[in-house]
Amino acid sequence: MFAALYVNGEPFGLSDENPNTIRLEFDTESAPTYRCRACGDDLTETTNGYESEFNGLHCPDYAPTDDTGPDYGEGMHDPERIPLSWCNSAGISTNEADDSITVSLSVGDPRGAFAFTITRIPDNANSDRAGRLILHAPYPGQPSPHKELTQIHAGVYVIGDLTRACIPRPAPDAV
Ligand SMILES: [Zn+2]
Repeated sequence: MFAALYVNGEPFGLSDENPNTIRLEFDTESAPTYRCRACGDDLTETTNGYESEFNGLHCPDYAPTDDTGPDYGEGMHDPERIPLSWCNSAGISTNEADDSITVSLSVGDPRGAFAFTITRIPDNANSDRAGRLILHAPYPGQPSPHKELTQIHAGVYVIGDLTRACIPRPAPDAV
């Protein structure tokens, strides 16, 4: 079976003409995952708060509602998460021996991923499903999950621990 790789709609030449694993990898190890809404600096999470390389903990564009106070211009950055910084990798792999294709999305431990696999039951299988395509998808309560899932609608899940706060908030009045 021949598969060709297209990148943004364009055929992409490879040394191996029949790739069976393709993955987009995002640098979530060393690249900053937060950015300041006010000044635009990339931010690193530290024990003191969100810090930028050039301005440290203090935001040069901090704009308090009261600009007559002594602390004017001495506020903290306003962190927001950089788009797609939640993703470690997204991949596709094919397996001719198993007659299967798997799409993988990694958002937790980078060694693992949510896997969506379609496989075909062999035509000669002794089963009334012979020749049928079977979809395997992650589900809540799965043993050793990539991340916990909580269903909110059929086929729609919240990923991760719902008991932990999700949106970073700088401490009020912290300087
Ligand atoms: Zn800032």
